[in-house]
Amino acid sequence: MRHCCSFRADDIYFLIDNDLYSSRRLSIGFCPICSKPVAELIQWRFDGKYEKISLAGIKANDLVEKHKKEISYSMRQINYARFKAKPFGWVYGINKSTKNDKVRQYACDFYGNKELIKSF
Ligand SMILES: [Zn+2]
Repeated sequence: MRHCCSFRADDIYFLIDNDLYSSRRLSIGFCPICSKPVAELIQWRFDGKYEKISLAGIKANDLVEKHKKEISYSMRQINYARFKAKPFGWVYGINKSTKNDKVRQYACDFYGNKELIKSF
């Protein structure tokens, strides 16, 4: 992957094919120089053309968010399947309010794993 310099992807998500594209891979990582999240989507169009979308910061988050339903599996999922109980990969935060106006804060990943971080 590339931003301020070239670096290794933290995780690679393999996306399901759609009508137009196949061999779709979404790489995510953090730039070691500016520490922004970077997402890179590489996919092959039906007519043999190659498409690459590379975004950083908030836009990288949006790109992952947009495609998260299409993720079939990830590199880490294969490598760390036995640790599946805890969130891993691209972890994001969710706040849930309960009765009595309490808020529970969870860390979640795209595989449905979540962990309670704090409640207040
Ligand atoms: Zn950078």
